[in-house]
Amino acid sequence: ETAPVITIDGPGGAGKGTLCRLLAEKLGWHLLDSGAIYRVLAIAAMHHDFGPEDEESLVALATDLDVEFVPNDETGLTHVILEGEDITMTIRTESVGNVASKIAALPSVRSALLRRQQAFRDMPGLVADGRDMGTVVFPDAEAKIFLTASAEERARRRFLQLQEKGFDANMNELIIEIKDRDDRDTNRSVAPLTPAEDSLILDSTSMSIEEVLEQVLQYAHTRL
Ligand code: C5P
Repeated sequence: ETAPVITIDGPGGAGKGTLCRLLAEKLGWHLLDSGAIYRVLAIAAMHHDFGPEDEESLVALATDLDVEFVPNDETGLTHVILEGEDITMTIRTESVGNVASKIAALPSVRSALLRRQQAFRDMPGLVADGRDMGTVVFPDAEAKIFLTASAEERARRRFLQLQEKGFDANMNELIIEIKDRDDRDTNRSVAPLTPAEDSLILDSTSMSIEEVLEQVLQYAHTRL
């Protein structure tokens, strides 16, 4: 029996991370943060000094990537361990996100990571967070959501998030970076950021996370 999947796709900063964590908690399902995998690969590539032009090396790295996701019940955080090193905090910076999106544009890298992502599908169910969860990785998902928000609102949320974690941030730079990353994710040739045909599109610009969660739960129940 294959486990049911709810996919949450959308641009960075739309609130997917928080939504997916709450959704997985509420349903008692597994969670796949696919962006974290691309971010880990970006760190591994930086360690090896591989740029986006070193496609072959990146594919080899992606294939053998020694990464573990370890939920910590005390902190409520999923710790990310690369080759034994805890990089939970390091992967969240904007610069790592930017490198990740450059590497993620390479078709061969994406296919090298495909099965690793699909392996997260397990009973009683999976909440999958990313850009192409509903379109490429889990095209047969029971419920597909495309969560978006204006670039300005996403920059504002990212700003608060970064501040909370003690990182420095500049609002105008964030808006520019977010738009750049949107462009790259939307215009790449393979698995571009686009809503699956059968997805529910939610614009969270003026919604609270509670309202979003409520709507998604309601929608998911009609589909499961
Ligand atoms: O969601 P997050 O900001 O962590 O993702 C980092 C980058 O990884 C994205 O900008 C995107 O380019 C890439 N990504 C992707 N496909 C996914 C998840 C993330 O291409 N499913």
